[in-house]
Amino acid sequence: MKVLVINCGSSSLKYQMLDMTTEKVLAKGLAERIGIDGSVVTHQPAGKDKVKFERPMETHKDALDIIMKALVDPNHGVLKSLKEIDAVGHRTVHGGETFASSVIINNDVIKKMEDCSTLAPLHNPANLIGISACQEVLPDVPMVAVFDTAFHQTMPAEAYMYSLPYEIYEKFRVRKYGFHGTSHRFVTLKAAKLLGENIGNLKLISCHLGNGASIAAVRYGKCIDTSMGLTPLAGLEMGTRCGDIDPAILPFLYKKGYSMEEMDRMMNKESGILGVSGVSSDFRDVEAAAREGNKRAKLALDIFFYNVKTTIGSYVAALDGVDGIIFTAGLGENSSFSRQKICSGLKYLGIQLDEEKNKKRGEDIIITTPDSMTKVMVIPTNEELMIARDTVELVSKMK
Ligand code: AMP
Repeated sequence: MKVLVINCGSSSLKYQMLDMTTEKVLAKGLAERIGIDGSVVTHQPAGKDKVKFERPMETHKDALDIIMKALVDPNHGVLKSLKEIDAVGHRTVHGGETFASSVIINNDVIKKMEDCSTLAPLHNPANLIGISACQEVLPDVPMVAVFDTAFHQTMPAEAYMYSLPYEIYEKFRVRKYGFHGTSHRFVTLKAAKLLGENIGNLKLISCHLGNGASIAAVRYGKCIDTSMGLTPLAGLEMGTRCGDIDPAILPFLYKKGYSMEEMDRMMNKESGILGVSGVSSDFRDVEAAAREGNKRAKLALDIFFYNVKTTIGSYVAALDGVDGIIFTAGLGENSSFSRQKICSGLKYLGIQLDEEKNKKRGEDIIITTPDSMTKVMVIPTNEELMIARDTVELVSKMK
């Protein structure tokens, strides 16, 4: 089965074409600046150079038209005809309390996704635009929605409820949802394989540490807590997001003259390691500045490592023990320095890092010594593959 995976943002559209008999990526690419001057599609067939198409793209449908042509182009295409596309998997952000797993998209699902849009006003409408554009371009192809929040729907109420008046939950469904669920699900399943254990016997803590960062506590394959909340702003300090702060800071700043829009922008775009360091939102830049003696860069990183360590600690409590800790995403997969810093504060878990293994990159690996009481793993995430697997599973059942 050949599956097209789509991740649609408000002005961008990422795609991967996968052959699911081998789980190999045939081509991938990105449409950027949709509806803005300078729109461009960058298309890359596996093992070949990237090709750029710089054309005006008013809508996501315009971008998809270019992508479809690229996929069947005699020079850089990977399909003979679009008929080879058996299914499309859509990355969708917020499934609210409605979606606890991936679903085949139909009118009812679209309506329910629209209802969830108030919970993710930036993301869900863009996802819906992507779905509708795809349905125009590939009208008879079955499509699947894979939700970032779904994996976390197994959290118990004591983990997902905020202690606001209960009516705030009843009226508006304000609660913790969590994000990066597809990534946490992918890496915890892989961790079980790497450890040679049944996921049903394992207590795992999955650390997705990238520009956006979250941690999930996963008991016997089911999420029981995670660090992001109603929105992806909660939890750890991130590239530009503040993570958890005292909520009373908002009315405090409001009285000082900051508007809601200014505070929203500040917390989402101007905080985190960018806001504290004043250097960059990119961990590589901040690590480099800290090495050169920049005190604020060092502080930004120290806050992050402290957040990760204390969140892991609270999830050890939630899980009543832990068998394995997983690092994934841009920083988690690539920064041996960060992993070493975080793990050096987890001696009470009997963690003994293997320095050499901690330096390796790009492979699933246990980076602790064989006698380490808790195993620490690096597992590159692959959300697109997880989306494609769900798509195959659901579409196969339709036939
Ligand atoms: P992601 O959002 O998963 O793509 O992760 C992006 C983040 O990972 C950026 O802040 C990068 O700086 C960080 N990152 C990627 N490679 C490295 C590295 N070798 N060392 C430190 N940070 C890295």
